[in-house]
Amino acid sequence: MAGEPDAHCLFCKIVAGEVPATTVLETETTVAFRDINPQAPTHVLVIPRAHYPNAASLATGAPALAADVLATAGAVAEQEGVEDSGYRIVLNTGSGAGQTVFHVHAHVLAGRGLEWPPG
Ligand code: IMP
Repeated sequence: MAGEPDAHCLFCKIVAGEVPATTVLETETTVAFRDINPQAPTHVLVIPRAHYPNAASLATGAPALAADVLATAGAVAEQEGVEDSGYRIVLNTGSGAGQTVFHVHAHVLAGRGLEWPPG
């Protein structure tokens, strides 16, 4: 059920401390940790502690929590010192768009030239 932990979900296991992660910021409702396969000098994933499969289900089921994820992404950018140079928040949605972990996560990418349109 949306919002409830999923025993098979990798990111729920990170929230529970069952899988190690390099955490950079934690709030009551979110966790931010470094991507294991970074695509930029700064590549941090921000997740809600609660399990929602994608951004739309999060925004529909828990709009305040969706705002928390974006606020944490901004706080990560500030902490990483990339706020002024700019950063990108990416929410891949669906396997066709590259989503591989179905616990919503915002990629925070910075520290290199970020092309537009994205690949
Ligand atoms: P997606 O492709 O948008 O679903 O992003 C999933 C991201 O999770 C990828 O960038 C992976 O590199 C990252 N990832 C997978 N497993 C781990 C892990 O155990 N720790 C940190 N990042 C992970």
